[in-house]
Amino acid sequence: MTLPFFPPDLFDGEQETLLDIVESIGLAPEQKFILGTHTTRFEEMIRDSVGAADAIACGSGTAALSLVLRAMDVGPGDEVVVPAFGCAPLAAAPAMLGAVPVFADVDPWTMVADPAEIARLISPRTKVIMPAHMFSVMADMPAIRSIADSAGVRLLEDSAVAQGGMLGGTPAGMWGDAGVYSFVQVKTFGMPGEGGMVVTADPEIGTAVRMLRNHGQDGRTRFVHHRIGYNSRFDEIMAAFQLHRFATLPQRLERRACIGEYYTERFGELAGCGVLAPPPASDGRCYYVYSLLAERRDALRDHLAAQGIGSHIYYPAALPRQPAFAPYAPGGAWPAAELAARRTLAIPIYPHLTDAQVEHIADAVCRFAKES
Ligand SMILES: *Cc1c(COP(=O)(O)O)cnc(C)c1O
Repeated sequence: MTLPFFPPDLFDGEQETLLDIVESIGLAPEQKFILGTHTTRFEEMIRDSVGAADAIACGSGTAALSLVLRAMDVGPGDEVVVPAFGCAPLAAAPAMLGAVPVFADVDPWTMVADPAEIARLISPRTKVIMPAHMFSVMADMPAIRSIADSAGVRLLEDSAVAQGGMLGGTPAGMWGDAGVYSFVQVKTFGMPGEGGMVVTADPEIGTAVRMLRNHGQDGRTRFVHHRIGYNSRFDEIMAAFQLHRFATLPQRLERRACIGEYYTERFGELAGCGVLAPPPASDGRCYYVYSLLAERRDALRDHLAAQGIGSHIYYPAALPRQPAFAPYAPGGAWPAAELAARRTLAIPIYPHLTDAQVEHIADAVCRFAKES
């Protein structure tokens, strides 16, 4: 592949910085490698960047979801409404706590949970609604916020892919009672390791998550365990690297948005030829992954590969169709999620693609749709 889907040089230009950080933290007299001053400063920076009351760094985006669900006292007998299309932790996090993930079908164009479906699935057992932003489109948070408020249930916003996104003037992560970010390598603020962050405007959720990530301790007295907690702590080297890279994040997000908007404009005319791009908009967008819906998806994938262009399928099956989650979803149907799983194809959108490369990718998609 001349243009692989996952770029091999994701942290290009930052390797020296990373090595310097490893050396300085590795050789520092305090020998502090987790939850030290770099982590605290990283949390403060993220907290202030979105106007949260608290931001808590933890082991991964998945861990962040589990920590918040635990802080919201989700357990056996509870239901958590999640999208029927998305990544495994959306279903696994509630299930791990003994709760039931209830799958809401998605909008057939944007692939995010359909608010009407969420509203239809609210029951007396619903404890939390957990929508997720998907690919390049944020979920309809104003509608989902009002469903949560009128049902009197909590809202956990899976903004793992949407850090830096804005919808109606509110940052991704701040529409819910809590939101999460992921820093796994491929995410827009990815890093060379595992990590996540919880953001919340609710100081009580913040305090609970902070305890839960470190064995239920309060951070003052060691070996006093107020709650049954996890080990979900944050690495000092990663925190220092993220502190260094945060200043240039807006630049990278802007470049992604520029590429995404160009694609959407080029692909607008392909809707009648079996290739559907996301709806054009500037509000509520987060260009993590640029996904098309192609009627002949596998043929498009082969066509791109023949021109040296990598692509990726997120996700090949709807969540309720996964063997692990099917027992939670007996007898249901999720037509939009199942169609999305057959048609979705993501094309490269990383920020260091050149204009010529972006044009080459767009040309290849257009040629496929128009000529074959
Ligand atoms: C990546 C992702 C997660 C999980 O984050 P990890 O850091 O990989 O655990 C959760 N939800 C969504 C929507 C994601 O894309």
